[in-house]
Amino acid sequence: MTNHVAKENGQTKESSKFFNLKEMPHIVKALDRNQKFHSDILQAIGNTPLVKLTRIPKSEGIKCEMYAKCEFLNPGGSVKDRIAHRMVLDAEERGVLKPGKSVIIEPTSGNTGIGLALAAAVKGYRCIIVLPEKMSDEKVNTLLALGAEIVRTPTEAPSESPESNISVAHRMATEIPDAVVLDQYNNPCNPLAHYDGTAEEILWSLDDAVDMVVLGTGTSGTVSGVAHKVKERCPRCVVVGVDPYGSILAQPEELNQSDVQTYEVEGIGYDFLPRTLDRTVIDKWVKTDDAVSLPMAQRLIKEEGLLCGGSSGSAMWGALQAARELKEGQKCVVLLPDNIRNYMTKFISDPWMEARHFQPVVDKKIWWWDTPVSEELAAPVGSVPLGSSPAQALAALAPAAPLLTVLADDGSIAGVFTADNARRRLANLSGSTSEDLEKFIVKKFYKVDLAENPTLGLVSRILDIAPFVVVVKKDTVSNVQKAVGVITSSDLLGHISKAQYKNGTN
Ligand code: PMP
Repeated sequence: MTNHVAKENGQTKESSKFFNLKEMPHIVKALDRNQKFHSDILQAIGNTPLVKLTRIPKSEGIKCEMYAKCEFLNPGGSVKDRIAHRMVLDAEERGVLKPGKSVIIEPTSGNTGIGLALAAAVKGYRCIIVLPEKMSDEKVNTLLALGAEIVRTPTEAPSESPESNISVAHRMATEIPDAVVLDQYNNPCNPLAHYDGTAEEILWSLDDAVDMVVLGTGTSGTVSGVAHKVKERCPRCVVVGVDPYGSILAQPEELNQSDVQTYEVEGIGYDFLPRTLDRTVIDKWVKTDDAVSLPMAQRLIKEEGLLCGGSSGSAMWGALQAARELKEGQKCVVLLPDNIRNYMTKFISDPWMEARHFQPVVDKKIWWWDTPVSEELAAPVGSVPLGSSPAQALAALAPAAPLLTVLADDGSIAGVFTADNARRRLANLSGSTSEDLEKFIVKKFYKVDLAENPTLGLVSRILDIAPFVVVVKKDTVSNVQKAVGVITSSDLLGHISKAQYKNGTN
């Protein structure tokens, strides 16, 4: 536009010229003179920035200085790139992993898988990653993009059961020629990568003057490796482990079945003690849950500009509890393990947070938004017992119905059966209709309980991210949640337009 005007006038106007960059005020950062380029992306793992936190500690009344170790800036997006690379190098050196021949198989919550798939892509290994259903689709898509093969296992399977990702990976390794499980739960290179790398970097950044380090615990390789090095060089430093309720890492002696609960935060917490955990070097434990972790991860993003994941929120929340005892001038480091990318459709999405009651439903100020869901709104839904075959369930699924509920013996909903999921199982997981129906059902689906007075607004928010919402009601005698029906977008639209007509509202 400006160029056009300039030509018409027959002279060049100042505003149409490119900027005189040479004459402008310059802000030039000191160059890293050590490294001009990397021979491959694996060489860029580690040396992550340590960033001083400004807004959150201040608003929480913390007196000490707080720093974030930004592990989410590793090339694969997490702290686990470090151990993946280290385990591969070690296994190659020992001759266990043979370039061009070996197949890497690993059970993981995703990030070690991404680190291994990254190393496998660069080095040309076949890589099979076995991960529980709970882990995000974003992780799966990243793994697939890196050329890894994926096997999913049920989230609720206890680690020692044959269905767990750990058992499945080890079983597959006996069946696939030249398969190697590097085994992050037992491999000394897991804590060693942090002893040699992560901890050295933290200590160097703060001139060995660290008063507290706070880390989430999964395999616990990060906390154990960091703690061992920090205690050698800075014995007064307090090491804090952060563990979700539902995990036994913090207090194994208190394990009992009623404590076991599931949680949304990925990558931390286990139902067994990995060999890579050394509890003797952990001075304090803080227990966390989703309700505090996920909003804190959102705050790290919004208030500090740190594009991290859910377990970073757990670590930060734990750090805020523990750092209260530190005084002005003391230094607390919190490690942020992974990247926002893994959770774009999860805690980063407001409807996802609202559907799980982690934050209030947004107020849209629309006339029907706060109307309670009524029983009549839910379209009737068919059901089959869990003992049915997939073929029986398929036959029972009416052409227009989005789903069937699959009922356990006590009448509770074991899961839902949808044509979409059945097709996916048959197409992608080489499943067969002779398998148990349980393998074909979706256990995690969106539901609203009439006893909790859900609103049409909540249902609409859920329909932003899911094709249907199952309406349930708790049976007062048996205390079991029973299905009342299902709501889709067309059910909701029909209901609203009928109400509009009746009320004369528009
Ligand atoms: N956060 C996330 C997101 C992770 O993937 C992991 C690794 N499982 C951790 C924290 C915990 O790290 P570690 O396994 O070293 O305890």
